[in-house]
Amino acid sequence: MDTQLERAPVGYVILDENWKIVELNRTMLLMTGSEESPGHFRELLTISGWMYFQTYFLPAIELHGYVREMEISLRGRHGRFPALLSALKADGRYECAIMAMPIRGEYESGLLEAKREAERIQKKTEAANQQLMHLVDEIERKQSELIGLNQRFRKLATTDPLTGLSNRRAFEEALDDLLEHRQKEGTSAALIMVDIDRFKKVNDTYGHDTGDEVLKSVGRTLDQESGGFLAARVGGEEFCILIGGAGAHLPVAKEFAEHMRRAVEAADSPVSVTVSIGVAEALESDSPVDLYRRADMALYQSKQEGRNRVTVASE
Ligand code: GH3
Ligand code: MG
Ligand code: MG
Repeated sequence: MDTQLERAPVGYVILDENWKIVELNRTMLLMTGSEESPGHFRELLTISGWMYFQTYFLPAIELHGYVREMEISLRGRHGRFPALLSALKADGRYECAIMAMPIRGEYESGLLEAKREAERIQKKTEAANQQLMHLVDEIERKQSELIGLNQRFRKLATTDPLTGLSNRRAFEEALDDLLEHRQKEGTSAALIMVDIDRFKKVNDTYGHDTGDEVLKSVGRTLDQESGGFLAARVGGEEFCILIGGAGAHLPVAKEFAEHMRRAVEAADSPVSVTVSIGVAEALESDSPVDLYRRADMALYQSKQEGRNRVTVASE
C-alpha cells in the first residue's frame, strides 16, 4: 500500500468476497487501537454493527455496487464508537473507507445518559407526587374527622343529656341571638317558661328514676308541640320555649302556651303531671335578663294562683 494511503485521514480496508481483510491502512489500526490486522471484517464490528452490516450493507452493495455513508458501530480497544462506512465493489473485492465519528459518539452517549437521568428524575418525581397525594388524602380524612368531632363536641356541649333537648347554655345563646335579631329587624320575640307542678312529690312518691322518666316525657311533649321553635331544659324541672316573629305577639303566644299546658296534662307519662307557665313578650328596652325575669314572675304568679295555668307578664 502506498504511503499516502497508509496515512490517509480515513481508515482504508480491502475485503475479499468472504469479508476477510486483505489489506488495511495504518489509520484503521490507530482508529481501533489494534497492532495488527484482525483478519476478518466481523472482528472490527460490534455484534449489532455486524448484524446491521449483513442486513443493510450486503443487499445494498450487491444491488448498486457501492454504499455511501452508512453509519456503523465499530469495536475499538477503548470500547465501541460510531463510524461512517463508504464502500465500492470492484473485481470481486470491496474497498472500504471508514471515518470515525468520536465526537458524535460522545454526543450520543451524553444524550443517552441525559435521557436516563431524566427518566430517573421523572420516576422520583412520580413517586414523590404519589406520596404527596397520599398525604393530601390523609389530611382531608383527618380534617373531616376533626369536623365530625367538632360537631359532636358542639352537640354534647349544647344538649341536655337526660331529655336530649337544648341545654341552658344553648338556650342563653339563642335568647341573645333572638333579642339581637329583634333589635335589628324589629320583629317580635317571646319567652315561654314552663315548670312542672309539685315535682318534688313525684320524686318522693315514685323515686328519682321515675322522676327522670317524667322529665323525659315532659321534654318530649314540649319538643313535639313547640312547632320548630327552640325548646330547652334550663333547670331541674324547668323548661323554656323561645318564639320569634308573629307568633310572639301576646294573644298568639298565650294560646300557644295553653296548647303546651294541655298537651303535658294529656300526655301518656309514667306519672301524670301538670305544668305552670309564664309568658312574656320582649319589650323594646328588654335585655335577655329582663325578659327572663318577667317570664319568671308570670310563672310565679301561675304557681301562686293554683298551678296548671298560664299567666302573661304585664308590661
Ligand atoms: P312547684 O310546683 O312549686 O314547682 O313544686 P316542685 O316540687 O316542682 O318544686 P321544687 O323546686 O320544690 O322541687 C323541684 C324538684 O325537682 C326537686 C329536685 O329534687 C327535682 N329535680 C331536679 N332535677 C331533677 C332531675 O334531674 N331528676 C329528678 N328525678 N328530679 C329532679
Ligand atoms: Mg322549679
Ligand atoms: Mg316545680
